Amino acid sequence: MKTEELTDPALALDDLAWRLFHDEDEVRTLEPVALSRGCRCDPDYVKSVIARFPLEEREAMVGDDGFIRVDCAFCATDFPIALEDVA
Ligand SMILES: [Zn+2]
Repeated sequence: MKTEELTDPALALDDLAWRLFHDEDEVRTLEPVALSRGCRCDPDYVKSVIARFPLEEREAMVGDDGFIRVDCAFCATDFPIALEDVA
């Protein structure tokens, strides 16, 4: 392939893949998926996970501020959960 082909915005990705890999036995492409910014973490889901722990363990999770603190490992959002909210 030439540089012009690799950087041609009008060349569809399937065509680009075919030109690069048509010697291969099999080439698969998937439907494009739109990217979006953000995290799918959800306070209600976090509460439902905490609610599955036995009461004794939930009580042990409560911190000095009176809340169970859960933070999302992806976006670092902090979810303070009151013990009575997951009873
Ligand atoms: Zn998150």
